[in-house]
Amino acid sequence: MHELGVVFYIIRDVKAVAAENKVSKVASVTIELGEVSGVIPEYLTDCWEWACKKEPIMVGAKLNIETMQAITFCEDCRQEYPTVQYAKICPHCGSENTYLLKGRDVNIKDITVMESSKEDDMSQDYNLENDDHNGLDISATVE
Ligand SMILES: [Zn+2]
Repeated sequence: MHELGVVFYIIRDVKAVAAENKVSKVASVTIELGEVSGVIPEYLTDCWEWACKKEPIMVGAKLNIETMQAITFCEDCRQEYPTVQYAKICPHCGSENTYLLKGRDVNIKDITVMESSKEDDMSQDYNLENDDHNGLDISATVE
């Protein structure tokens, strides 16, 4: 079960961004969930609600989940195709010389904060990708 590790990862990064921006309350967080991340949205939401109760800045914060399509790249014909539909075999040329371009990651897309008077959008396209092109390796977040 990866979901709790993912939630902790997201909350840690949200808190870091909130601290930088002197935010005291997070209203909602929108994430992009890769199609082949193995993370189950329902579990993620459950873990989210549980974890947010323990963080004053996160209490009541809503989690919005958007699905990110998984894309595989073919090294032989240099084309991309949808991973879920064709898996490892390129539909353009039949090659198996392919690798996953994206879709295994969980990215923070948007954070909405609660100010006393206004809701402010403080972060566009903020994400937790690592240096490698596959971004966050979910398995690495399991404690
Ligand atoms: Zn190909």
